[in-house]
Amino acid sequence: MTGSDGGRLVVIEPATEEVLAEVPRAGVAEVDAAVAAAKASYPAWRAVDPAARASLMLALAAAIEAAHGELSTLEARNAGKPIADARGEIGMVAATFRYYAAAPERLTGETIPVAGGVAMTFREPLGVVGLITPWNFPLAIAAWKIAPALAAGNTVVLKPAELTPLTALRLGELALEAGLPEGVLNVVVGPGSTCGRRLVEHPDVAKIAFTGSTEVGASIAAGAAASIKRVTLELGGKSANVIFADADLEAAAAAAPGAVFGNAGQDCCARSRILVERPAVEEFVDLMRDKMLQMRVGDPLDERTTMGPLISAGHRQAVASFLAGESVAASVPVPDGSGFWFSPTLLYPTDPSSRVATEEIFGPVACVIPFDDEAEAIRIANDTIYGLSGSIWTGDGARALRLARGVETGVLSVNSNSSVRVSTPFGGFKQSGYGRELGPHATDAYTEVKTVFYATDAKM
Ligand code: NAP
Ligand code: MG
Repeated sequence: MTGSDGGRLVVIEPATEEVLAEVPRAGVAEVDAAVAAAKASYPAWRAVDPAARASLMLALAAAIEAAHGELSTLEARNAGKPIADARGEIGMVAATFRYYAAAPERLTGETIPVAGGVAMTFREPLGVVGLITPWNFPLAIAAWKIAPALAAGNTVVLKPAELTPLTALRLGELALEAGLPEGVLNVVVGPGSTCGRRLVEHPDVAKIAFTGSTEVGASIAAGAAASIKRVTLELGGKSANVIFADADLEAAAAAAPGAVFGNAGQDCCARSRILVERPAVEEFVDLMRDKMLQMRVGDPLDERTTMGPLISAGHRQAVASFLAGESVAASVPVPDGSGFWFSPTLLYPTDPSSRVATEEIFGPVACVIPFDDEAEAIRIANDTIYGLSGSIWTGDGARALRLARGVETGVLSVNSNSSVRVSTPFGGFKQSGYGRELGPHATDAYTEVKTVFYATDAKM
């Protein structure tokens, strides 16, 4: 089977460089057909009563849980991520559908005191929403968008990244098996430049929710402007991991590799700038080197693996280009032979304005930047176009809160690296995007507020 453009999409396994699957490649005709199916199913889907919509979402969560092993293996092989990480992500996918299953019955409005009658508000769905997602956390990021969109009564067209379409395609099948009506969740696998573009420009698509690069995000916002489409954007990052000398340095150094080399650094939340208070730099770098040497880079399906390959040869080349002229404090051995391997690399204290210190690398490369006091730490942390995540390590609680308020970023952790939970809002400041996913407010991004005035006084 081929797509309307006659093409087939060859999906490569990053750890072996071999063909993992071939799927028909969609073109504009398939996008149009998917949007038409979503549009046709919308009136009935929005009319499904809230408790029944909740039940269908719970059924989908259960179907994902039942397929947990299969989906985890598929994600690990297609995205090149350690199987333990893939299991966690697929667990989060099911948890996300469970969390938003509670939403249909909680999309309440307000009554507002006005003269002459009753004013009330409703949260109305938007219609057909287009979701465009990246290759780094393929199914997890798709679920963050699909679950609140469906819960609020919208129908969906999902365009996953061409590099990693397999779990999204399987999710589409699981949704039908779980009883979601046909046309409610549609998956179109094709290039961003054609299929993604068409979704952005399609007159019957009410909103685009996008996760990906800042560059493509800007072009989507511009393209969506012509039809006044709603847009939410989750974009790049260059987050700071700020470590004070009074911190538990051992704990900070133990956590730092995961904070930047997790998912081989292909993580928009990667804390790739490690800001260390000057007196602690040497001790911290020694500790972090020791922790890095405990990493195991290799086969994603090996339970002991902590880091897999990069997503593609082209991406490996892009990451490597950042290392020219930089001096390496620590790196970790990687397998020989096929696979898009890249050594986790820590760079020695570098100029804060250098390329490695300012641009998103999206690979396993971190740099250490010394600072002298709190004010300087905040200034360096904020000296970036991005503002997505970050961490602060200190034994001083008041300082932690001062920093937390001072750093311009959407999510931030104290004495921890975690960024993402199903129940808490996630999204960026500045060029890391706008809108929030996850947490109780995510349905706001998939609804409009409608005000209805009901006159009770004949004169009004
Ligand atoms: P990307 O190149 O921006 O692609 C993201 C998605 O957009 C893919 O599905 C892509 O399709 C599609 N696309 C590409 N060009 C398009 C266009 N002109 N119109 C519409 N859609 C288009 O990003 P990526 O390379 O996949 O991912 C890496 C980037 O994503 C990094 O910058 C990272 O920071 C960011 N990211 C951010 C978050 C977050 O939550 N903030 C999470 C993950 C990643 P194809 O690839 O199939 O062509
Ligand atoms: Mg790309």
